Amino acid sequence: MDYDIRDVKALQVLDSRGNPTIEVLVMTEGGGYGRAIAPAGASRGKNEAVDLRDGGKDYGGMGVRKAVSAVNNYLAPAIIGMNSYEYRAVDRKIIEVDGTRNKSKVGGNATTATSLAVIKAAADTSYLSLFEFLGGKRARTLPVPLMNVINGGVHAGNGLRIQEFMIVPYGADSFSESIRMAVEVYKELKKYLKEKYGPSATNVGDEGGFAPPLSKTSEALNALEKAITGAGYSEGDIGIALDAAATQFYDPQNRLYSIDEKKLGSGELLDFYLSLLETHHIILLEDPFAEEEPEMFGELKRKSEHALIIGDDITVTSSTLIEKYIKRDFIDGAIIKVNQIGTFSEAEDSIRLLLKEGRKAVISHRSGETEDSTIAHIAVAYETGLIKTGAPARGERTAKYNELLRIEDYLGGAAEFAGKKAILR
Ligand code: PEP
Ligand code: MG
Repeated sequence: MDYDIRDVKALQVLDSRGNPTIEVLVMTEGGGYGRAIAPAGASRGKNEAVDLRDGGKDYGGMGVRKAVSAVNNYLAPAIIGMNSYEYRAVDRKIIEVDGTRNKSKVGGNATTATSLAVIKAAADTSYLSLFEFLGGKRARTLPVPLMNVINGGVHAGNGLRIQEFMIVPYGADSFSESIRMAVEVYKELKKYLKEKYGPSATNVGDEGGFAPPLSKTSEALNALEKAITGAGYSEGDIGIALDAAATQFYDPQNRLYSIDEKKLGSGELLDFYLSLLETHHIILLEDPFAEEEPEMFGELKRKSEHALIIGDDITVTSSTLIEKYIKRDFIDGAIIKVNQIGTFSEAEDSIRLLLKEGRKAVISHRSGETEDSTIAHIAVAYETGLIKTGAPARGERTAKYNELLRIEDYLGGAAEFAGKKAILR
């Protein structure tokens, strides 16, 4: 099989918010090809790789023609002729060509789409699914989905400050069962919100979850619990996860968090979370404090008996930052988003580090997504046990769930489901 890269082409396409994004096609001499599209975040960490955008008038400045040119003019000539099977060497070349700390020269969007297209082309050249190419024969565990069914924060136009209210159907026997359970709860939630707040409460936010006109965290949690029990499930079947994305409601000047129509200091926010953990079945809490206060993650981790404390904006898929916060025991795990760091190999380093340290690697989408379903394969390849990819609605979210259903079907009797162990410390 000839894995050498024969051609690399980029073009401008659209993401789920109607913003331009970059798609890259990589072809090999062996006749294989890989196509990947970069997603885009709205609540971004300050240390994330930087997307290259055009500015100016077209698309309100959000165009990515400069990133497309950067792939065609800089990355393509550098990696054509390289062996796609040795994708880590290809990524090192991409990093070298960019030459910046945060991928700002060619753009994190350009490096992400190129790097992901390379691994997909190598898998295709091998006649293997991507999860098999990356994970080998042992990869057979489907992840527990963290489904964001109520949207708040910068992903919705309501008063909820917590960005994501997720249901976690870990009690299922299989991945397809977990999807069925989650969909039943999603439908029950729609019915409940419509009855209680009127039909407009069932409009959806950026990740396909409902965006009801609520402003109190506990009201959203109560709605979720009503939906879980209304659908016939209990705490043993389905847990709740939250992504506070707290940097978004933090005022660094006054060091105060605006939530539930109050302004709280970090100690008060800690108490707020502890009372939520006491009264609700919350099994995971992501970004509970702002990036500026990483030590508060550790405070909460020490005081939380069961809930996993997960970093996203503070870790940005960087193995250096993840290592630092594991050493200080601030986090139980981290969110993995390839476009936060800009190449697949760097994200792979972070996944391996987390798993080696017995921590959680939550493979994640972005709020601006596309039909690209690569993250489904990454979750199975490394058997991370957890994936976060939105509500069971909107094509860019169901693309990932449907790909996982295909992988489960393909594995047949060999397929396993991560289940409850995925959420235990
Ligand atoms: C997140 O914060 O985990 C998330 C998926 O949102 P965004 O893509 O906007 O960062
Ligand atoms: Mg997050």
